[in-house]
Amino acid sequence: MKYKNIQINQKIYYSTVLVAIALMLLGLFVGNPLLHHLGPGYITHGVLVFLFSICLLIYPIYKSHFLRIIIIIVASTYFYTIFYLYPNTWSNFIFLCFIPAISILFFDTKLFHLSLLLNTFSIILLFSYIAIVDRGELYPYIREDLIGNIINFLGSQAILYFIFYLSYGRLKKQQLYYEQIKHSERLKTTGQMAAAVAHEIRNPLTVVKGFLQLYEKDNTYNENSKRHFSLMINELNTAEQVISQFLSIAKPDKDTETELVNVKSVLQSVTDLLNTYGLLHDNKIVLSMVDDCYIAANIIEFKQLLINIIKNAIEASNVGDSVVVTAESKRQLVEIKVIDSGQGMSKEEMDSLGTPFYSLKSKGTGLGMMICFNIATKYKGTIDFDSIKGNGTTVTIRFPKVGV
Ligand code: ADP
Ligand code: MG
Repeated sequence: MKYKNIQINQKIYYSTVLVAIALMLLGLFVGNPLLHHLGPGYITHGVLVFLFSICLLIYPIYKSHFLRIIIIIVASTYFYTIFYLYPNTWSNFIFLCFIPAISILFFDTKLFHLSLLLNTFSIILLFSYIAIVDRGELYPYIREDLIGNIINFLGSQAILYFIFYLSYGRLKKQQLYYEQIKHSERLKTTGQMAAAVAHEIRNPLTVVKGFLQLYEKDNTYNENSKRHFSLMINELNTAEQVISQFLSIAKPDKDTETELVNVKSVLQSVTDLLNTYGLLHDNKIVLSMVDDCYIAANIIEFKQLLINIIKNAIEASNVGDSVVVTAESKRQLVEIKVIDSGQGMSKEEMDSLGTPFYSLKSKGTGLGMMICFNIATKYKGTIDFDSIKGNGTTVTIRFPKVGV
């Protein structure tokens, strides 16, 4: 997992990099024993200082994974080369131990593992060289206590590992927290929007319904017209109901009646209702229930949640496919799964679920999932998606179980 949201403070970054470059140049020009007889070793040192500096300077412009790998490789080559070129400067060994620390700055797990692996492999080569070829001539301080040095090296890698995972864990938590805040902000805005829209729509509906009720009683209209009026009134009632439910999201604190809901019977009635809808594309709903289970929720809202999710599953299914709905109690929870083998979703699409007006359908409203998430949160439930693009989706709905 990479943290795209972490922005490097450019000023701090460049100041640090300039200090590092200044130190590398000092090492190259001040008191350097190779300076007097410019040989291939000194030139290699110079080239590596140049390459490493360029990589560090261009990193904020081309923040790519590839450049990060290059930086780690150049840094490793640089530190191992100066260790090799200046055997008397024993403190260079410290840098070898801390090479993986560079990748900690990038907070990239793969890169950190790669860097740990690369460093361990390089140190094995180096110690083998000292033990077999050099035999302690140039590096007596390492040869004299080879085992001790190996243990210290492993210790330093373990410390780096802990530092990385502790800070990584903290960062991950912060990221999650940030996402949650973003989500709740989004819900707040939609709540206010919904309230305004619903309020504006409700008034004209009431007026139209009032007139229709009047006409329904008016004897100048024939029976056929009256039947139409009654149908219109029914439709308006449905619209009013939807608006009321929508308003309940806008005002989550408003008391809605929480009752004991029999999941089995609700699922049965919802599937009966949606089977007709599924017939349009020859989709069947297969319901499989293990036992009776109960949850505490508002029955209308719970139905609304299931209808939205099962409807989405039908709409995503290919002609003739079935949607499987299962329900079972698991410890303290009631777990309902809605499984389709339809079009599925990519990770980005799943992240957008719950965003108001997010819809990939030509006639979609993009409000269904937002309503579902709100209802689930209200009754301490959760909705999780597991989907593979082109393969299908499994929606898992969990609510706290209530014993009867
Ligand atoms: P709508 O159904 O009006 O488009 P929703 O909020 O219900 O709005 O769903 C938003 C989007 O999420 C859908 O347009 C669809 O792209 C995607 N989606 C939801 N459920 C599924 C599913 N089971 N399979 C594939 N895509 C889905
Ligand atoms: Mg929908």
